[in-house]
Amino acid sequence: MTYKKVILKKGKEDSLKRFHPWVFSGAIDSIDETVEEGDTVSVYAADGSLIGNGHFQVGSICVRMLAWGDGAIDEAFYQERLQAAMELRKSLQLLRADNNSFRLVHGEGDFLPGLVVDVYGSTAVLQAHSPGMHFDRYKIANALTHLQGVEIKNVYYKSETTLPYKAELDAENGYIVGGYDTDVAVENGLKFHVDWLRGQKTGFFVDQRENRSLLEHYSAGRRVLNMFCYTGGFSFYAMRGGAELVHSVDSSAKAISLTNENVALNFAGDERHKAFAEDAFKYLQQMQQGQYDLIILDPPAFAKHKSALKNALIGYRKLNGKAFEKIARGGILFTFSCSQAVSKEQFRLAVFSAAAQSRRKVRILHQLSQPADHPINIYHPEGEYLKGLVLYVE
Ligand code: SAH
Repeated sequence: MTYKKVILKKGKEDSLKRFHPWVFSGAIDSIDETVEEGDTVSVYAADGSLIGNGHFQVGSICVRMLAWGDGAIDEAFYQERLQAAMELRKSLQLLRADNNSFRLVHGEGDFLPGLVVDVYGSTAVLQAHSPGMHFDRYKIANALTHLQGVEIKNVYYKSETTLPYKAELDAENGYIVGGYDTDVAVENGLKFHVDWLRGQKTGFFVDQRENRSLLEHYSAGRRVLNMFCYTGGFSFYAMRGGAELVHSVDSSAKAISLTNENVALNFAGDERHKAFAEDAFKYLQQMQQGQYDLIILDPPAFAKHKSALKNALIGYRKLNGKAFEKIARGGILFTFSCSQAVSKEQFRLAVFSAAAQSRRKVRILHQLSQPADHPINIYHPEGEYLKGLVLYVE
């Protein structure tokens, strides 16, 4: 099947032939004048040969490719892609009695640019990052309820803050299928209330699952500070790992109350945990030297775009510098960056500068990244975003 035409300039089809899924505005020679934002379009090389079909958007990325050749973008297409995504998650063994939360669709990493779907029990939270996915949301929701291998009864659409603001799509958050908000998610045997109605992103960060497990193994007998705790993910793992005490800090009072609720769900009445609604820099500044011997720093993305890169790197250096200054001898620092615009090397250099300034002996124990349910399309290296270091500080 073919759609309205987008014709590329001569030679601009090369990256698409290497399966990179984006068409930048500068590569386009002409666009059928009836094309509107969010339409499915067919992309042609200058010589008139068809390359594939994708969603059109106004902006620097003009087309997000969905199919190579003349494959139709219809309900059957979504059913097939979503089932393929599910097959991968099945082979990762993410659906078990002790784990029902995972990312089902990770945009380009699942060959569905513009779409993110997280699953918590029988609820799927669907997030559109492109107008095309917004228009296709009912087809996607319907395909989700037909998946083999997981029974989705509830589909919540949460795109108010992820769609391009200029597109004026009036994307309201709301249920497309079902309508209950009482699912309790389970990750590696630990329970979480998932607040998709009010939480950030799709409600709970499933991308730290494996890194939390690693932290659990370092927690015995340690005094833990979980900075930027959000819903407290790292905190419960630390508690199960036998931490002496766990302090969770986030500037959002809402995040702190979610953290407290989640602690109560797993460790009711456990006095080892305390949560504080405070600014990170203020807290790190005021805390005692040697007060904690395991610190987690998992801040929000400091650079959402390349233009913010320089300030972001300064931010990472300062933040990590405070942790190096204050962590106890023999302490362990789990430090992360989820900014896509910051490379692994740049992040490591920022942390290195902070370590050097502190004049402490620092060694890298682990280099962390995103889990396999956030796969990186090999033709789209931009999909790699989460990086972390586990450091031993003498
Ligand atoms: N570690 C979390 C995810 C962190 S998301 C997890 O495993 O789920 C980033 C968090 O940083 C958000 O909850 C946000 O409220 C918080 N935050 C943003 N700016 C902050 C600041 N200046 N001080 C403290 N917390 C901040």
